[in-house]
Amino acid sequence: MSPSKVSTLDFQSFHNIVDGEKRSSKDIHHGINPTTSEDLWGVPIATEHDLNDAVASAKAAFPSWSQTPIQKRKELLLKFADLFSQYVNEFTDLLCKEAGKPRKAASIEVSGIAGFIQYHCGLDIPEEKFEDDEKTVYTEYMPLGVCAGIIPWNFPLILSIGKIAPALLTGNTIVVKPSPFTPYTGLKLVELAQEVFPKGVVQAVGGNNELGALLTLHPDVAKISFTGSIATGKKVMEASAKTLKRVTLELGGNDASIILPDVDIKKVAPEVVQGAFQNSGQVCVATKRIYIHESIYNEFLQEMVKATKAMKVGSSDEEGVALGPIQNPMQFEKVKEFFADSKAKGYKFAVGEPDVAPPKGFFVQPTIIDNPPNDSRIIQEEPFGPIVPTQPWSDEEEVIARANNTNTGLGACVWGKDVEHAAKIARRLEAGSVFVNSWEKPTPQAIFGGHKESGIGGEWGKTGLLAFMNAHVIHVYKN
Ligand code: NAD
Repeated sequence: MSPSKVSTLDFQSFHNIVDGEKRSSKDIHHGINPTTSEDLWGVPIATEHDLNDAVASAKAAFPSWSQTPIQKRKELLLKFADLFSQYVNEFTDLLCKEAGKPRKAASIEVSGIAGFIQYHCGLDIPEEKFEDDEKTVYTEYMPLGVCAGIIPWNFPLILSIGKIAPALLTGNTIVVKPSPFTPYTGLKLVELAQEVFPKGVVQAVGGNNELGALLTLHPDVAKISFTGSIATGKKVMEASAKTLKRVTLELGGNDASIILPDVDIKKVAPEVVQGAFQNSGQVCVATKRIYIHESIYNEFLQEMVKATKAMKVGSSDEEGVALGPIQNPMQFEKVKEFFADSKAKGYKFAVGEPDVAPPKGFFVQPTIIDNPPNDSRIIQEEPFGPIVPTQPWSDEEEVIARANNTNTGLGACVWGKDVEHAAKIARRLEAGSVFVNSWEKPTPQAIFGGHKESGIGGEWGKTGLLAFMNAHVIHVYKN
């Protein structure tokens, strides 16, 4: 540990954080190291009592925190970013262990934390003013109160800070619930935050899915910021309706990537492969369907196969590793179903083996299914693993319709040398974020959210701040 550190965090023991204090529990569970299938450290399962205490503390902290000038709130957030930056190595180690990510990928997620906070601290809350002879109308925004952030397991750190930073910046307090599969980095992040923020401003209760459900029902929680699956998102919305909570739902997707005939095949094919297999396909906006113009289909696919074969699958610290394991046994079994189904239906594996049987851990080789039918599971559903289908296309209108023919709408990509033409197609794709000549790379600078069943609302960036606020319009009439 470097001597300049002002605090000493213990990265071997994990607690829920309630009312500024570390709290244990008589019930303990374990994450699983996906590289070895071995149990990781014990983590306390928060009780309903813990959760109620956390919400009460967040409610008590809200009046003072929301009245704290925004400049002061930003100062504290920036102080937290600095403090976090002293622990990048420890957080990277922890993320490698709990999520199985290659070290380079883990360190990108960890180093994104301070950047996310810093960018958001440069933002102001939008406001408008309208004036006529009779009155001035000020459209302003005020915070909601106690927010809850419910987090999935694929990006436990960036998706936590993606809720904590805008919630706190806009004057809310927040209770975070990490995924039971990846509790460690999220709990430690919130523990560290206690060194900067007043008690009750940011807390964490972890343990199981029921805690998430309890948060959605709690009368003193004003907003649920949820990231996870479509199925759970629907339950969150239904439960939140009972108290008309605000909800932001960031859900799954089935992103299409359209490859135009004029692309530089050797350059673009490896990029498209990255988009599909980033984080071993466990990304809400990973490329999940690839439509290649028929005139280049075979050549493009061969280049994709080449790039896929060059991706080394292995554990975090192995030299040259590009892809880690599937994060948890439940997801591993789900991904295997897509392999089994593709094998049973006789689809062509352009690269990858139909039978997934790693000697240990949850490793899956990146796999491309060559031209399965439209109604196949691999086209219709989100595998959330390293298996992706390709199909040829010939008519632009038809491929746009095919890309849009899904109940999801999270991300999409269009690749073409004629950028204006590609951008024109991008504007017709029904998805929250469309990328031209890049695979899907959400950034803190723009709101991120889904169309259709990929979500409700969105967060991040200036527009995203409004997801944590109510409009508050002051009409001032002239005397
Ligand atoms: P999940 O829906 O199973 O779980 C997400 C979180 O919800 C967990 O913390 C879980 O404990 C909690 N939860 C479970 N049941 C709940 C309930 N009834 N009420 C409230 N909370 C409950 O999702 P997952 O398997 O952890 O994550 C994978 C999914 O998340 C994929 O579908 C992926 O596409 C999606 N995802 C979306 C985004 C996005 O920003 N759109 C980002 C990452 C992941």
